[in-house]
Amino acid sequence: MLTHNQLNPTQNKKMRITKMAFIIFSLVILTIVGLTSIPKATSPIVQSEVVDLPTLASPTTEPLEFASNATLVTKSEENLKIPVLLYHEFCIDNPKNDLYTKTSVLEENISTLQENGYSFITFADLYAFYYENAPLPEKSVILTCDDGYLSNFNLAYPIFQKLNVKVAIFVVDSLVGKQNYFTWDEAKQMKDSGLVDIYSHGKNHIDYTKVTAETLKNSINFAQTNLEQHLGPSSIKVFAYPAGKYNSLTVETLKDLGFSIQVITDYGRPFDTTAADLTGINRIRCTNNTTGAKIIQDSLK
Ligand SMILES: [Zn+2]
Repeated sequence: MLTHNQLNPTQNKKMRITKMAFIIFSLVILTIVGLTSIPKATSPIVQSEVVDLPTLASPTTEPLEFASNATLVTKSEENLKIPVLLYHEFCIDNPKNDLYTKTSVLEENISTLQENGYSFITFADLYAFYYENAPLPEKSVILTCDDGYLSNFNLAYPIFQKLNVKVAIFVVDSLVGKQNYFTWDEAKQMKDSGLVDIYSHGKNHIDYTKVTAETLKNSINFAQTNLEQHLGPSSIKVFAYPAGKYNSLTVETLKDLGFSIQVITDYGRPFDTTAADLTGINRIRCTNNTTGAKIIQDSLK
């Protein structure tokens, strides 16, 4: 093998150029390796900045309130079957009749749905899914209570808070604050928690298919105005028909009054979002014998 000294000047020069090229090449490689390792080293800082962002964001963080493992879909991607549960009265023990659900049963129903990945959504979420292309969890459920019984506030509301579920309660204007019904102040307390929406179940608990168009309009408007005076403006108008009694005249009249969501009665199956609009939302009635497993079974119908 030849040494440097044995090389002629041209060979020696070539050798020096090769050596120099190798050194430059090595420097370039080291620089590239160094540069690519920088983002890796700083990436945890970038991530923690992203995590901090929600504290600065406006209150458009609705999707974060769905179950953490929820698969979100928009209406253009997939139609959903959404169980809309209907409860009335609650008790700790000894249910007097079919309207009553024991608090232990309510808790079991909610927990079982949560454990099975269901998100408790609001009617506003459903409205946004229909008309604003907003996503909903594939497993969505809506919990509703009719009539505005005091036990909704005394017994069920603490459970809604404990289990962090969104609920809609439909109140009859003439019954608010009467014996066995919660007051407007109690309604406001629940609404201000952000967990409970309060909507109208009419001025009186009557069959609105049996009144004149004028009485219908006046009664529905009166109840809605009074509700908003006590609780503040509603972003969407939702109405639940007393005893589920409705017909094409009531539906059209209420639509004209701005009630884009109209809730009817028990069909024992979930609301199917292939429906053209939200003016016929059927529900699944829950009694003291209803189990979470049964609700899930009915939700797949
Ligand atoms: Zn009712």
